[in-house]
Amino acid sequence: MESLKQKICSEGTVLSEQVLKVDAFLNHQIDPKLMQEIGHEFAERFKGQGITKIVTIEASGIAPAVMAGLELGVPVIFARKYQSLTLKDNLYISKVFSFTKQTESTLAISSKHLNANDHVLLVDDFLANGHAAKALIDLVGQAGASIAGIGVVIEKSFQSGRSTLDAQGYRIESLARIKSLEGGKVTFLE
Ligand code: 5GP
Repeated sequence: MESLKQKICSEGTVLSEQVLKVDAFLNHQIDPKLMQEIGHEFAERFKGQGITKIVTIEASGIAPAVMAGLELGVPVIFARKYQSLTLKDNLYISKVFSFTKQTESTLAISSKHLNANDHVLLVDDFLANGHAAKALIDLVGQAGASIAGIGVVIEKSFQSGRSTLDAQGYRIESLARIKSLEGGKVTFLE
């Protein structure tokens, strides 16, 4: 998606060879017009698949997921993060290791919102090593729901998430694929 790539080049900051900061339009301040285009692009790529729900993780997945949900006409569920959980009734629960915070947290989705009749599109802001996607897949699996695919705003293709999920047979649609962040420079795959 050309407008996204341009935005990454003009407003993104390479923090290290592993981490890209996009606080100017996705992770802190949000560019609504760009999010709308992102939602449209996800909907184009996944339309006609019988998707009934979009599932993402708070907080940064919510903006692109909501825009995709608006375009596809389906509800959006965000898995909520807890440090610990005492009340576990009627919840699907999974652990996730955070790439940026380097800590583990607990994710939960209420069983009220997701069940075996659902066909789910997973959406997230970044794909790095695939831990977030793995946790979402686990939560959707606990509900007995099926997965139509995974929509990623920014994929860092040099990390392991893409190949792991490809090997598991998931359809992944990434709107910007980054080949490298070496030398403080963003190089795209395609
Ligand atoms: P993964 O779970 O695939 O290893 O990492 C994806 C998650 O970590 C995303 O939900 C995202 O919040 C965060 N993340 C991974 N890499 C980056 C990055 O380079 N920049 C930012 N801002 N977040 C990242």
